[in-house]
Amino acid sequence: MFGESFSLFRVLGFEIRANVTWLFLALLVTWSLAAGFFPFVYPDLAPLTYWMMALVGMLGLFFSLLFHELSHSVVARAYGIPVRRITLFLFGGVAEMEAEPKEPRIEFWMAIAGPIASVVLGVAFYLLALTMVAVGFPEHIAGVARYLGFINMLLAIFNMVPGFPLDGGRVLRATLWQMKGDIRWATRWATRMGQGFGLLLVALGLASFIAGNFVGGMWWFLIGMFVYAAAAASYQQLLTQQALAGRTVRRFMTADPVSVPAETRIEEFVNEYLYHHNFDRFPVVRGQRLLGSIGLAEVREVPRDDWQRTRVGDVCQQNIQENTIEADMKADEALNQMQKTRSVRLMVTEGERLVGILVLKDLLRYLDVRAELEPD
Ligand SMILES: [Zn+2]
Repeated sequence: MFGESFSLFRVLGFEIRANVTWLFLALLVTWSLAAGFFPFVYPDLAPLTYWMMALVGMLGLFFSLLFHELSHSVVARAYGIPVRRITLFLFGGVAEMEAEPKEPRIEFWMAIAGPIASVVLGVAFYLLALTMVAVGFPEHIAGVARYLGFINMLLAIFNMVPGFPLDGGRVLRATLWQMKGDIRWATRWATRMGQGFGLLLVALGLASFIAGNFVGGMWWFLIGMFVYAAAAASYQQLLTQQALAGRTVRRFMTADPVSVPAETRIEEFVNEYLYHHNFDRFPVVRGQRLLGSIGLAEVREVPRDDWQRTRVGDVCQQNIQENTIEADMKADEALNQMQKTRSVRLMVTEGERLVGILVLKDLLRYLDVRAELEPD
């Protein structure tokens, strides 16, 4: 999501990453605290003091987001759902779960853990601020702790808005799911609320922008767009998963695909395969064993004079991890793999043997037909 991420450190066994967009958020927060918020609340201090306070505030925000996501992750792991990593990005943090919760009860506790953690941390920061004033720290130093207390409360409140995929939306979905036992219905309502909330933020952002608050307005506009898109995508993803549930790659693949024996010469490959069939890429086999794949790109590498001598097996692309899948894998995992690698065709294997080709178009056609016959 949002391009490059880099690994920072590990904590409690979770890999913590920051997306490049987090740097933008960090700069924006530091700048607005140093040049706006702190000078407004505590006037007449040295500029360097404001920048130091802002820096601590930004690091505190980083810690607060991490604390929130860690609480989701710890609860998820306790329920047996592995968390791949935690990534901080432009709009906060996200814990990447490897599976969706199987029961409403689990989803409820996983979701509510984050806001609870933020409230606890918020109270802790407020108490810290009170203690600091009591033992004689200057008001503005304690003010940084007070600001972080406020930020954590805000984080809890914002996340409890009942629109999926926010935490409150997950709590709502879990509750509806528990009530009716229908995850699809529950997800539909929770994501609709999420889309509604997203649009509301977009509208507020625009109004705020027009009123002259450019940075704040743009900020809410972007968050609104993000929430809206994420809500819509979550529902779509659930529909896809449900439609493909329990079906393997074998069910959708085309068996006995056109394949090129490794000893075929390039000349023959071009005339008999490339010109003859409507495919961009062909599996290359030795006997029945899948060796790799070949397409126009590899042919271009061979000088025309060598077409008679060169064999397909010598020039084919042998790194087949990305465009190969086992016949017994789940169909929705195949779809994930295609999205991740942006490939529209996967070679299907049983062990080392090529048994078929899975084409994205065929999967999508199936999903379209299901959607037509079983509309919402
Ligand atoms: Zn959360």
